[in-house]
Amino acid sequence: MAPNPSPSALAALAPKLTSDLAYRLLVQSVVDYALYLLTPEGIVVNWNAGAERAKGYTADEIVGCHFSVFYLPDDRAAGLPARNLATARRVGSYRGEGWRLRKDGNRFWAHVVIDPVLAEDGSLLGFAKITRDLTEQRIQADQLRYASRHDGLTGLPNREHLIERLRDELASSPRRRVAVIEIDLDRFKDVNDAHGHAAGDETLRELARRTSATLIEGEFLARTGSDEFVAVKRYGDEAELDDFVQRLQNGLTAPLPLSQLTVTINARLGVACFPQDAPDLDKLLDNASLALRRAKQDGFGHHAVCRHYEVAMDEQVRVHRSLLRDLHEGLGRDEFFLVFQGQHDSRRRHAVGYEALLRWQHPRRGLVPPNDFIPLAESSGAIQEIGAWVLHEACVQAMRWREPLRVAVNISPLQLADTRFEAQVLDTLARTGLPPRRLELEITETALIDGRCDSLAALRRLQELGVHIALDDFGIGYSSLGVLHLFAFNKLKVDRSFVTGLEANPQAQAFVHAILAMAQSLSLPVLAEGVETDAQLDALVQAGCDQLQGFMFGRPGTAEQLGLTRP
Ligand code: C2E
Ligand code: CA
Ligand code: CA
Repeated sequence: MAPNPSPSALAALAPKLTSDLAYRLLVQSVVDYALYLLTPEGIVVNWNAGAERAKGYTADEIVGCHFSVFYLPDDRAAGLPARNLATARRVGSYRGEGWRLRKDGNRFWAHVVIDPVLAEDGSLLGFAKITRDLTEQRIQADQLRYASRHDGLTGLPNREHLIERLRDELASSPRRRVAVIEIDLDRFKDVNDAHGHAAGDETLRELARRTSATLIEGEFLARTGSDEFVAVKRYGDEAELDDFVQRLQNGLTAPLPLSQLTVTINARLGVACFPQDAPDLDKLLDNASLALRRAKQDGFGHHAVCRHYEVAMDEQVRVHRSLLRDLHEGLGRDEFFLVFQGQHDSRRRHAVGYEALLRWQHPRRGLVPPNDFIPLAESSGAIQEIGAWVLHEACVQAMRWREPLRVAVNISPLQLADTRFEAQVLDTLARTGLPPRRLELEITETALIDGRCDSLAALRRLQELGVHIALDDFGIGYSSLGVLHLFAFNKLKVDRSFVTGLEANPQAQAFVHAILAMAQSLSLPVLAEGVETDAQLDALVQAGCDQLQGFMFGRPGTAEQLGLTRP
């Protein structure tokens, strides 16, 4: 290969080349770049094929005109053409990108280089201008940028976009207040499971469309997770914020007509405000999450529960963290024990079995109720170890009872999802000697909906051996009736909330009657939980309920306290 010419050889060649006809023809035939010269005042001197292609003017039309005709009217009015020439002159070159005009009035995105052309004595002869049409690239870059900042399903801004927006809001409105509202759809997964993912997607799209249609200036809504959204509001007084929250609640929870069905979604909202609740962006988001967490804990509502951040919520998180640490140690230190609560035949009123309920005697905190630590154990994975302990302990204790009654054990959805669950039950039965027919597993419908077919098959095999499978907390779920087709349960436990509502709430009455009628048609025994009063008892017996459990018959107690154990 021939060696490249040295720089000095090139410099000597240059004047010859530029004066060469071939060189001029080359420049004129370049079509990807607009190449032309300007006088020091900005008048177009010549024009190549690329310039004609990019800007639409022929040489005849444009030579002699001022180059500012290529700029948008606003840029022209702002003096941009002259400024760019001045920059080129001052620093030796101007480089930039911007919208320019074609002859037909359309815009194109131009990459522009302006170099001053100097005479040997340094005086300005004019400017060389190179323009490249980057409209395609610009559109692609815009599309990429849009895609990277928006959620593909709903078209709402995504988390990245949200953070940018929040950062801007906090920086630009130091004296205004900014609220962050974290939103979580309640049991949205059930919609997916019950109606399919297409319906789930449509639900999210429609919710996003309907809710964002109500936004006004200073409001922003982003989708930050599968069923998580974050709204932002710049506001002056509390009433404005209240109004916004109200609009969000309505937008999220009003019945949503889809193409095939109408769904009703419930949502939880957590609000934190800058600057009073948090001094910076990270803390603001954290505190909105804390408020949301509280909203999720506060009962199973039929409207969108909304909670505002309070300082005490931080304290609660600290307590949870320390409980979590203690949980692991507690197992090793024998701090857990079981109490039992009778399950009674509704006609003869005697106990037919006992439900095992877990208790934690904490060295400093005293007795911690399961609702305070089971969710923690579930989120930390400790539930597997604790659940195994409960199962074993319940079987061991039941073996010592005077009467061979059934012992019911609560099983967390996470235990059921573990592939080792079946083996664990079989092993426990074998080691303790408890006959399978004396064991009842209480599972919730979440376990079945979340679970894979493997867990259903495992439950069926256990049931064939004689183990009873009861459906706990029936009625509070989303697809309760559907679950009954998934599995042939041995018992249905109607949730306490319906029993509590029996006296005053006609809906609860109707529900209980409907369940009992349906269960009878399926020959499925029904147990009512949380029976506390004579009136509830009468109503349940009259409606044909098979078994009853509740404080009316006795509070949960240790086997010793209840006199269950053989002397
Ligand atoms: P659950 O399975 O629905 O248990 C019934 C809960 O209602 C028990 O609360 C019981 O003490 C309470 N209860 C019984 N009768 C009445 C009544 O007449 N009125 C009222 N107001 N309450 C009554 P507890 O023992 O605090 O347990 C709460 C929940 O914790 C249980 O709800 C269950 O979901 C969970 N849990 C308890 N032990 C275990 C366990 O060993 N493993 C797992 N995975 N979860 C457990
Ligand atoms: Ca239970
Ligand atoms: Ca229950």
